[in-house]
Amino acid sequence: MESISMMGSPKNLNETFLPNVANGIKDVSKVTIGIIGSGDFAKSLTIRLIRCGYHVVVGSRNPKHAADFFPHVVDVTHHEDAVAKTNIIFVAIRREHYISLWDLKHLLAGKILIDVSNNTRVDQYPDSNAEYLASLFPDSLVVKGFNVISAWSLQLGPKDASRQVYICSNNVQARHQVIELARQLSFIPIDLGALSSSREIENLPLRLFTLWKGPVVIAISLATFFFIYSFVRDVIHPYMRNQQSDFYKIPIEIVNKTLPIVAITLLSLVYLSGLIAAAYQLYYGTKYRRFPPWLDNWLQCRKQLGLLSFFFAAVHVVYSLCLPMRRSERYLFLNMAYQQVHANVENSWNEEEVWRIEMYISFGIMSLGLLSLLAVTSIPSVNSALNWREFSFIQSTLGYIALLISTFHVLIYGWKRAFEEEYYRFYTPPNFVLALVLPSIVILVHRYCTVMHPLTVYTEMYWPSFLCKRLLHHYISSTMMKLLNFKLPKVSGQNNDESFLFSNCV
Ligand code: NAP
Repeated sequence: MESISMMGSPKNLNETFLPNVANGIKDVSKVTIGIIGSGDFAKSLTIRLIRCGYHVVVGSRNPKHAADFFPHVVDVTHHEDAVAKTNIIFVAIRREHYISLWDLKHLLAGKILIDVSNNTRVDQYPDSNAEYLASLFPDSLVVKGFNVISAWSLQLGPKDASRQVYICSNNVQARHQVIELARQLSFIPIDLGALSSSREIENLPLRLFTLWKGPVVIAISLATFFFIYSFVRDVIHPYMRNQQSDFYKIPIEIVNKTLPIVAITLLSLVYLSGLIAAAYQLYYGTKYRRFPPWLDNWLQCRKQLGLLSFFFAAVHVVYSLCLPMRRSERYLFLNMAYQQVHANVENSWNEEEVWRIEMYISFGIMSLGLLSLLAVTSIPSVNSALNWREFSFIQSTLGYIALLISTFHVLIYGWKRAFEEEYYRFYTPPNFVLALVLPSIVILVHRYCTVMHPLTVYTEMYWPSFLCKRLLHHYISSTMMKLLNFKLPKVSGQNNDESFLFSNCV
């Protein structure tokens, strides 16, 4: 790794084109990097390379014209000349134009060609652009990389957050040299192995919120359902019963009733997936069994579901703060005051109601605070500053606490109204009852999974799978019986329900 080839083809593949900082050679200014093409990407890459101390030679079809767009220190020349002067060449032209380099085949032999190209559609061609380039120039060392970085962020310099570059090549030495180059340009290189990964790398920039589609569809479906549900109960019902027009409630009140239900349901879905996964492992008595695809996808979308839950909760807070600003609220308030005077009531203070609202608001603020913390720690830069235990404490323990507090928030909102007949309009339960269904299931099941999961999954070497299944059945059935207030039959010689069931299992 000592000799640095500056010009001409390398004699063997162990030869390096780049200075190796680890070996104490730090002078990159003697290294020339070539770029074919003089477009936006070439210009930005040139600036980045110059800033990092490299000498750059640009190959263009029209060097005289192209030279005006590059700093004067850059050598803008013809393709042949540029290729002859360097051993590492960025091919910054589009795939359709690769064939125009065919005449330079002999000059490109043994040199590293970095394919930075992207396509306009996912899997646009049968082979990837890099594989196509390698097939055109089999004697060159084709490396795929840098395509996930835009020309704009290349110019921004190392301060820009999008710093990961994915690199692959069939030639290990060439790959390592480009990885080293990426490092010296202040990128974070990710080695994806052989050139067959180039198709995946080329599809990366074309992905549009892949992990967001499912959660967004779920959020929109939930929002639509609960909006219609609230509309029917709070607007249509009074209109049909008493000809009372409450249509003014649609823009704010109905929306504000929908938002928190969607928020808490999405938050429950985040943790429900983990519980189903735990139950799955518990049932099969192993953690080494693949989850079905739907569960795998669900687990991967937890961050998106959580962030959407935070979004709905935050908007709910803004709506709630704006409620007193409405004219309808002022009229209702004045009417109430008038009725109070009319009824000769001096003091309408209701201790129970006062406490209810104080606690309701307090729990709401606390759950929003915790949700904000969860959202902030899901940002990659913050996330990478935490170790696994810290991250898991925040996302798992604090996440469950957030769910618990939000559930209390809803419970206190509902208070005794869940038991009052007038709130069951059109024989449907109030919104807050529906909002409580999923969080309650998650909180109850979580209690059992935390007890049982480590026991069964980590002791599978000693406990056969059927025992785990029986234990799971035992816990579910005993919970159900306790809930239904059943008395378990006693068997002679056994003192309690637990031993009865356990002996049955074994
Ligand atoms: P561009 O602005 O269209 O420039 C491409 C260059 O190709 C031109 O400046 C031209 O240079 C050369 N060229 C044009 N027609 C040619 C032909 N018939 N034969 C040979 N050369 C020809 O493209 P770009 O935005 O710089 O992108 C270049 C490559 O980088 C593409 O493969 C793109 O997918 C990839 N990329 C771009 C970005 C980005 O943000 N722009 C990001 C990632 C990857 P001369 O006239 O000097 O010969």
